[in-house]
Amino acid sequence: MPGFERFGDLERKELQDVMDNGVLMRYGFDGMRNGHWKAKALENELKNVLESDYVQLVSNGTSAVSVALASAGVGAGDEVIMPTFTFVASFEAILLLGAIPILVDIDDTLGLDAKAVEAAITPKTKAVMVVQMCGSMANMKTLSQVCNKHNLLLVEDACQAIGGRYDNKPLGSIGDLGCFSFDFVKTVTCGEGGAVITNNKQYYTNADHFSDHGHDHEGNDRGAETHPFLGYNFRISELHAAVGLAQIKRLPEFLEVQKKNYTILREALSKIPEVTFRTVPEGGQESYAFLNFFLPDLDTARKTINGFKESGVDVCWNYFDNNWHYVRKWNHLKEAKSLFPLSKEIKDALSLLSKKSFDQSDHFIGRNISCLIKMSWTEDEVKKRAKLMVEAVKKVL
Ligand SMILES: *Cc1c(COP(=O)(O)O)cnc(C)c1O
Repeated sequence: MPGFERFGDLERKELQDVMDNGVLMRYGFDGMRNGHWKAKALENELKNVLESDYVQLVSNGTSAVSVALASAGVGAGDEVIMPTFTFVASFEAILLLGAIPILVDIDDTLGLDAKAVEAAITPKTKAVMVVQMCGSMANMKTLSQVCNKHNLLLVEDACQAIGGRYDNKPLGSIGDLGCFSFDFVKTVTCGEGGAVITNNKQYYTNADHFSDHGHDHEGNDRGAETHPFLGYNFRISELHAAVGLAQIKRLPEFLEVQKKNYTILREALSKIPEVTFRTVPEGGQESYAFLNFFLPDLDTARKTINGFKESGVDVCWNYFDNNWHYVRKWNHLKEAKSLFPLSKEIKDALSLLSKKSFDQSDHFIGRNISCLIKMSWTEDEVKKRAKLMVEAVKKVL
């Protein structure tokens, strides 16, 4: 991660195809295209790679989450359970629909804790949104059991975990709907882009129409299409899809490099007895986009990050103090700072959130260090990095 580290001739060729015919839109203009349908071709590739019956590309990962929830009928007043450790996109996508984000603790997988999920279920709960953070996964078995037991929708945000697997299935394909982002810093990038995947034909049809103004996409005359229901515009462009089409073909190569670099760093750190690694649930296989490990406490983790900075080890974070990924600093959410009026139900829920503490999440996020695995490092660079990391950790302990 990220895919832009490896842009090359294939990306250039796919983009050139689009510029040669000039059709930047994914729908219509059949005569001008010379047979190039980049968004459609990317959807077909993704069906294979993600082993899913249906794929709908959208404009980004945040809209993928909104479109997934809307396609399954989640909306005003419905509660969606989500983790305290994720990207701000998770609650944005829920709030956009007038639904209510309910934040709950994570466990040592750094994903949703099934027990915390079960404790948060109310008669208004409609969906559980699991977020597969940093290339690995929550315990999908226990989460699926809770969702089945309470008849809840399981939506899987796999934006940071393309290529990871669980129980011999690609991450993203385990829940009722899966969401992906192809933004500029993801393993596979389009610049901006996203996808909703599902095996449910009705959800797919809904996603297809909803993401394009409610168009029914019947026949060859876009102007004559009808609108079975309200929609919005969350379309991807052909330019973005063209880059993604090149990148998805290279995913096996990307995963191999990530795994190689990850393994060198992990083996070096595992020689330190105080260092433990995030739990990967049984049957899980990481995408190796990040390496996550735990130190004994918050203080050691903070000092280690400072040590990394001093020795020039970049792209490692302790998310406890992070503005984007952890509940502690989401004051704009807790204070319900919105440009437009929010419903009373949402304001009430956010006011409750502002008074809540998340000790279990603090316990894991406080001690965690998360390192991005780059694909542009040479083997020598990774080995040098491993040595510097080990030295910095040992100095603090
Ligand atoms: C990147 C990301 C998103 C949002 O994707 P965008 O394409 O940037 O909108 C959502 N969830 C997670 C976990 C992400 O990492």
